[in-house]
Parts: sequence; structure tokens; C-alpha cells
Amino acid sequence: MGDFMNKKLAVIVSVLIVTSFALNIFTVSKSVKQVSASVSDAVTVIVDAGHGGEDGGAIGKSGSLEKDINLQFALKVNDYLSFFGINTYMVRTEDRSVGDITLPTIRERKVSDIRARAALMDLFENSIYLSIHQNEFTQSYVHGTQVFYAPNSEESKNLATVIQKTVCSLTQPDNTKVPKESGTNIYVLYNATKPACLCECGFVSNPEEEKLLLSEDYQRKFSLALSFSVLNYLITEENNGTEV
Ligand SMILES: [Zn+2]
Repeated sequence: MGDFMNKKLAVIVSVLIVTSFALNIFTVSKSVKQVSASVSDAVTVIVDAGHGGEDGGAIGKSGSLEKDINLQFALKVNDYLSFFGINTYMVRTEDRSVGDITLPTIRERKVSDIRARAALMDLFENSIYLSIHQNEFTQSYVHGTQVFYAPNSEESKNLATVIQKTVCSLTQPDNTKVPKESGTNIYVLYNATKPACLCECGFVSNPEEEKLLLSEDYQRKFSLALSFSVLNYLITEENNGTEV
């Protein structure tokens, strides 16, 4: 390992240590060797900010749009993962649809959009797909992160389990939700060709949680926890000898 990698590794380990103190939960027992293993791995994390353009997604209690919150989280996750030395690809970096916007009906444009997102998995041979969304429900008391996984592989389930556990322990210790397997209703997961998860960060239909989801501070903390989860997953898979 060259000097550059050593320096990069030192930075990453420092970040992990600072993060651990800041979030008051992780002991950095993962060795430098483990971190190094994930850093050198050529996996690409596809970061998907759900919805966009004419598709606003859920509408929050205060009128916030899910598509905007998703993008704010996704940009932060992308920054943290990049800083950890992980290759990333962002599905969108601005407020736009990913599909063909010239199609005549909303339904056709929506289908085109979700198909285009799913097709991105085939751009990279070695990738994982992380879709970021916000939830809503008719009863406003419902809150808390819920992670869904593609039914295609054990890896998808493992990724969802790490995300659900890590994010909740760091940001919502009372959240007892467990990851759920996606049905046909989540196209991008149901048709996934790579390990894939969808993280519903919280409920914009819950006024208190919506406030949190809109706050820069919470977005940063949550995105760091989410990125840390992905790093943990990559380290674990690497140690298990699984190609992800
Ligand atoms: Zn959504």
C-alpha cells in the first residue's frame, strides 16, 4: 500500500473515530485492515434520490415535497460515501425525472422513469443500489425509518438489515421496525439485478418527524449513519468473501 493510500486510510480512520465520538455509539473496533479492504474494493454504490421533476412524491404536513428531501439526503450520502473512498453514482443531482419526459401521459412517463432507474444497475458490473425516499401514512402519529430490500438475493436482505439496525441505533433508538421484503409495488427493488434497498428515512405525514427530516442537522446525522451502514455492509461482505 502506497503512502497516498496510507494517508487516505488514516483520514478515513480518523473520520470513523470522530464519528464514533460524535454519535456516541460506535467503537472503532473494525480494524484498519477491514477498512482498507472495503476502500480498495471496486464496488459502485448507486445513490438514488427518489422521484423528481413532475413527480413530487409524498407531500409533507407543512407542504414539503418528498422529492426535495430525498435529494438533500442523497447528496449528503453521496458526499460521505465518496469521503470514505467508495465509488458512487448519483441517479439524479437536480430536480428532474430520469425517464422520457416527452411521452404523452403521466403514467407512461412514470413507467419510463422507474424503468430507467432500474436499468442503471446494469451500468456497473459490481454495484449496490440505494434508493432514498420519505414515507407517508393517513395516521399522522406513525413515524420512523423503514428499509425495504429486493427479493433477489441474500445480499439485499443483509444490506437492509445493516441499514435498519445502524440507522435506528444512531438516530432513533426506540424504532423497532425490521426490514421488509419488497413486493411488486416497488418496481426498482422487485426488478433489481444487483443488491438493492430502499430506505424510507421517515414519515413526512408526521409533523415532528417532518421537521426533523427538513433540518440540515438531522439530514447530516442520518446521512452519515446511512453511509456508515453501507461501509459496514461492504466490510462484512468483503470479510465473508462475497463479491457484491
Ligand atoms: Zn417515495
